[in-house]
Amino acid sequence: MSDYRPDTICVQGGYTPGNGEPRQIPIIQSTTFKYATSEDMGKLFDLEASGYFYTRLQNPTNDYVAAKIAALEGGTAGMLTSSGQAANFFAMFNIAGCGDHIVSSSSIYGGTFNLMAVTMAKMGIETTFVAPDCTEEELNAAFRPNTKCVFGETIANPALTVLDIERFAKAAHEHGVPLIVDNTFPTPVNCRPIQWGADIVTHSTTKYMDGHGVAVGGAIVDSGNFDWMAHAEKFPGLCTPDDSYHGITYAEKFGQGGAFITKCTAQLMRDFGAIQSPQNAFYLNMGLESLHVRMARHCENGQAVAEYLAAHPKVERVIYCGLPGDPYYPLAQKYLPNGSCGVVSFELKGGRDAASAFMRSLRLAAIETHVADARTCCLNPASSTHRQMTDEQLRAAGIPAGLVRLSCGLEDKQDLIDDISNALEAV
Ligand SMILES: *Cc1c(COP(=O)(O)O)cnc(C)c1O
Repeated sequence: MSDYRPDTICVQGGYTPGNGEPRQIPIIQSTTFKYATSEDMGKLFDLEASGYFYTRLQNPTNDYVAAKIAALEGGTAGMLTSSGQAANFFAMFNIAGCGDHIVSSSSIYGGTFNLMAVTMAKMGIETTFVAPDCTEEELNAAFRPNTKCVFGETIANPALTVLDIERFAKAAHEHGVPLIVDNTFPTPVNCRPIQWGADIVTHSTTKYMDGHGVAVGGAIVDSGNFDWMAHAEKFPGLCTPDDSYHGITYAEKFGQGGAFITKCTAQLMRDFGAIQSPQNAFYLNMGLESLHVRMARHCENGQAVAEYLAAHPKVERVIYCGLPGDPYYPLAQKYLPNGSCGVVSFELKGGRDAASAFMRSLRLAAIETHVADARTCCLNPASSTHRQMTDEQLRAAGIPAGLVRLSCGLEDKQDLIDDISNALEAV
């Protein structure tokens, strides 16, 4: 299936029914699975045989959908998690533990920033944040001997900066560590970070992949390209025996293409249990079936709204990498030639008060802590998703207090522009 183009994988990837089997992926709504002998089951527990025994670790419905996302990203293995937060935490914690260090772009989702800067710091994992457009010297200077990975977002939520994936991958690889890229906003329809050197790709599937505001979820995909054994001293969890699985060494037993996801499932999912429900995986698959069609429309609406806002006298500036004047336009041309996403950020003249008057006057666009939905929605990050960040941190992340993040849905673009135009009258 991975030989097909992304549009075909969106529709049919991950699940190929046999003769007389359901056409749509079955929802295996079962916590557990039956075996004839305890020896059969023992083999599963020892990772000697593959199969299902408890849905906290693996479920067939989830695996179909994870396989589709892995195929879309061009990876070798994938897994679903209960949320995007769980996906990013698992992806990092799978290779970084107490006493380790991470290099991350400072321009990332507020929840992920908090995860690293506060919660993972409490666990003894330190993060150095670098600007996405930092110099070569600044980037290299951020690494330490105990650095275990580099993290960034293809298109940052909500700053909408575009990550120079090749540059960050090169720096990561020169220091013997993988690059983890959160590809939530462009989705693999518009960018496949593995093609540009990313080693691990994560998603909040809650956003465009679901696309209908139905189910919170996440995904992790391994490219299979990072040679763990070549840097065995840095990654003992993958390259030395795991006592909790009778001395299995993941990188040896499951190879370069399977080690990361197997360890992440066998250890982190077993111990933390942030599994996605099979029902939600089914909803996610419904979203994936039309992802390629929807992304084109989200981008068309985003571009039209961005161009309208850019020409409006009450708008201070518009942030959208599809606008030729945007500082990230050249990177977007390289990494996102078919469009970026439907999210447009803009600053109104008049700051926080103007933003709030504008948002109150919208009729189609609803105020929501959400993006990437079929229905247009908007948010003032400083008073919601990013309210735990100081003004200084907000500025460093490229999110001034008066910024409005508008997620263009799938409505008629002229109706969206009319709604925005009316609301701007009220400012
Ligand atoms: C929303 C989001 C997350 C967090 O995902 P949840 O599914 O809400 O846990 C992580 N990264 C990015 C880029 C996001 O937009």
